[in-house]
Amino acid sequence: MERSTIVRVHEGLHARPATRFVKLAKGFESDVELVKDGKAVSAKSSVKLMLLAVKENQEVTVRANGADAIEAIEALIGYLENPRAGLDDEADTQSPANDAGQEVAPAPVPESAPAALDRANGLRGVAASEGFAIGPAFAHFPADIAGQGRMLQAEEIGGEIDRFRTAVRAVQARMDDALAQDSLSAGDRGIVAALRDIAADDSLTCEAESLIRGGNDAISAVITAASTIAADFSAVDDHYLNARADDVHAVGRQICLALLGQDDVSLENIPEGAILIADDIGAWDLARAPLKRIGGVVCGHGGATSHIAIIARSHGIPAVLGLGDQVNALRTARDVALDGNAGHVIIDPDAATRADFVGRVEAAAKERAGLTVFKAVTPKLADGRIIEVAANIGSLEEIEAAQEAGAMGVGLFRTELLFMRHLHLPSEDMQAETYAALAKAFAPYPVIVRTLDIGGDKPIAGIEFPDEENPFLGWRGIRMCLDRPDIFKRQLRALLRAAVHGHIKVMLPMVSDIGEVRQTRVLVEECAAELKAEGVPHATFDLGVMIETPAAVLIAPALAKEVAFFSIGTNDLTQYIMAADRLNPTVAKLNDVTNPAVMSAIEMTAKAGVAAGIMVGMCGEAAGRPDLIATFVKMGLTELSMSPASIQRAKKTIMAMAAAD
Ligand code: PEP
Ligand code: MG
Repeated sequence: MERSTIVRVHEGLHARPATRFVKLAKGFESDVELVKDGKAVSAKSSVKLMLLAVKENQEVTVRANGADAIEAIEALIGYLENPRAGLDDEADTQSPANDAGQEVAPAPVPESAPAALDRANGLRGVAASEGFAIGPAFAHFPADIAGQGRMLQAEEIGGEIDRFRTAVRAVQARMDDALAQDSLSAGDRGIVAALRDIAADDSLTCEAESLIRGGNDAISAVITAASTIAADFSAVDDHYLNARADDVHAVGRQICLALLGQDDVSLENIPEGAILIADDIGAWDLARAPLKRIGGVVCGHGGATSHIAIIARSHGIPAVLGLGDQVNALRTARDVALDGNAGHVIIDPDAATRADFVGRVEAAAKERAGLTVFKAVTPKLADGRIIEVAANIGSLEEIEAAQEAGAMGVGLFRTELLFMRHLHLPSEDMQAETYAALAKAFAPYPVIVRTLDIGGDKPIAGIEFPDEENPFLGWRGIRMCLDRPDIFKRQLRALLRAAVHGHIKVMLPMVSDIGEVRQTRVLVEECAAELKAEGVPHATFDLGVMIETPAAVLIAPALAKEVAFFSIGTNDLTQYIMAADRLNPTVAKLNDVTNPAVMSAIEMTAKAGVAAGIMVGMCGEAAGRPDLIATFVKMGLTELSMSPASIQRAKKTIMAMAAAD
């Protein structure tokens, strides 16, 4: 028997939700299959299920055959229709989970910046974890493992299968032991748990056993089976699943080492502050390594979504990955300097570069240490006015860093990432959950969610953008949203629903005409009426606008009468006032927020907002500049939103300003 449904599991049957689904399926005696686009796979193999790449909102069929088929279908369909399935779980998630249980995805760094020799900066790879490091190179290039290279005799096969099974059990037991220890962080534990799932999965073991039955020795069989499955993961159109190919190889290697009775080369003796250089490091090895001693990581393999990147980021270790064969140039390096922000690696730096990097590392550490006292400070001016110092973030996984920094709410939540990360448009439910998690995390502080600000320069799946001569002056931001009420209303409905859970404010990007605010209001009211009729809990929110076009500055007095707040987007405002593309280095000099033309636009905006009695804030990069903060505050701005790294310094600047008054 079979039943079809639309998958509502948040993000689809990725890693953890897939293994939970398999666990559920294995609880039934019946043979169970999941079918997508005519392709059927066993629902009892997480590897096969992941490779089916089932996404949220796709149609699938559950097919069951056996005594408990009805119960199996009932339970599995229920799972697929639950947006939070597989996510509300203990710490052994695939990767660190946040409040919403959403899987932690990486920061938006280039997925596969080509490794190339850059004359000025050395090697160039993927900037996978930010920060600077310089230290002795610790090359970790364990020897390749090769099979016996001879075919087994028929009478040897049974024994070889036993040897293989014993090795698999040993690897699983070793991973279980590691999971039982307190020393692993929650995030690392999730990563090891995911590797254990692969080691325990029939796909790898059945493939290897069938190769052994065909006469291959166990090591050759494991290497071939792992390569086949890894190639399948590499072929899927999904960055996250592509990165699982490295995990399969890592598990295969562990099984081979167990067959050889060897342990992998240990990272235990890595010297303090060393830069770990490797073609590839199993997440399994890295998670157990003395991470506090590692100064930086450089790898030939890996990208922003690989487990190594996740571990490095969560432990604050700068990392440059994806160097490809160029990593071989580092095998004999004595010292390495790395810039995890730009993805640069410098081999045996000269004295000047060394001094530069040592200076950057020391300055960063010293400044970090001196600023922590400002984390809990609420900056107040001499007249008692509080200046809100909030965070600019683009995903839920940045919440922790913002809170750690002492953010007084979120002044700009860029929702583009939510749309860009997926191969389809995010559902209303998924958006509502995300915004609600954000609001809950910062309550009672406000969180300002910016509606979708995207154009043809950053296309996203599900929206057809026209070819434009000049996308920065084209169909983007609020213009696109108002033309696509199907997309816009889904976001507005999600925001109204999330507003029940905290202090949500909503801000419109790229506004240049008052009609855009009015049309949005009509849509918001329409959405609220629909939700009311459907009996869905929701609440109203303050509606504000970004001031980032010259037109918005010039009509600011009129706009101020129609909205609850302004937030000045100096990044775009500067480029539009100066007619200087913010991405074009040739005109970078003109792209200067301190140009009197831009500063006077900011002042005009502040005056209009203050006169109307609404809040005026700023969320462009300039908001975090210590040299400009006093000027902005004197103009009347009461909220400054910036990247979490700038928050404590900004609070210190405001306190110093208040003390000087
Ligand atoms: C701005 O333009 O200043 C801004 C904050 O928005 P974004 O950088 O996302 O365009
Ligand atoms: Mg902008």
